[in-house]
Amino acid sequence: MGLTTDKNDPCLEVIKDDGQQACYLILSDEERAKGFVRPVRYSYKHLKCGSVTRMGQALSETYSRNPKFYGATFCCHCGGHYPVGEDGEFVWTEDGERVGS
Ligand SMILES: [Zn+2]
Repeated sequence: MGLTTDKNDPCLEVIKDDGQQACYLILSDEERAKGFVRPVRYSYKHLKCGSVTRMGQALSETYSRNPKFYGATFCCHCGGHYPVGEDGEFVWTEDGERVGS
């Protein structure tokens, strides 16, 4: 899985066989270094299926810097992207908080 800080990068539109995007948008190192407004959490549970998906450091830190950065996230069991936020379908396994809140 690739990462990009360019929101116009064409790899963001490419969906691989497993359902993941060819790359994911993250905030730059400089932006993430400005400080986190939430703890850095690395895995979340999809409430619809109960499966846990883990993320890498840069994605986790992007959520911590800006919890509203993503509108959806991937479930490795369901093989697709589903909504996050106050009414979303995911909670962090570390503390049970809603992903994207
Ligand atoms: Zn799922």
